[in-house]
Amino acid sequence: MLKVILFDLDGTLYTSSEVYQKFAEAAYHTYAKLKKTTVEKAKEVLERRRKEMKKERGYEVPYTLALLSVGISIEEWHKENINFFNPGDLLKKNELLKIILSKLKEKYKLAVFTNNNRIQTERILKALGIERLFDYIFTYESYKLIKPNPEVFKKIIKELKIKPEECLMVGDRYHFDLLPAQEQEMKIYEVKGPDDISELLNIL
Ligand SMILES: [Mg+2]
Repeated sequence: MLKVILFDLDGTLYTSSEVYQKFAEAAYHTYAKLKKTTVEKAKEVLERRRKEMKKERGYEVPYTLALLSVGISIEEWHKENINFFNPGDLLKKNELLKIILSKLKEKYKLAVFTNNNRIQTERILKALGIERLFDYIFTYESYKLIKPNPEVFKKIIKELKIKPEECLMVGDRYHFDLLPAQEQEMKIYEVKGPDDISELLNIL
């Protein structure tokens, strides 16, 4: 029996090319600042790393991994992106999503499970108007681990005190959100943004 629905944040509970663009700019800015170079050079390095990593792995990687691969820690990256911009300024309330999540909440516990940091996550949830709907919010700070590391999935299952099969992972990135969840015997559901979440009301 399903008990908890875990939602990825970026690309799942909202989609926004403006926010993605700002995260990219924040990554360039972070590299430029910490490696003492120009933003143009930073962009060139990070986009080249992402291209190489995509080729190696067969799927696109987020800036977090590109930055890690050039020696910039997640803590440094998060500190810089928090100061660089507030994604909440670029997002609007999503009343329909709020209604759908409220309905799901009548039957299940709801959780956010994101590689993003606590401050950006709270800013985003507040801007969407859904900050009160989650029973749990797992961010990078929760375990200092990021998806797709299987350990973070195991730790969450343990924390929730449930069996993996009582958990549904909803996300937009197969290799980060869904494949590792499936490997832990969790149920999975792929979306391309919040509009696809309404379908859960029909299938659960
Ligand atoms: Mg995502």
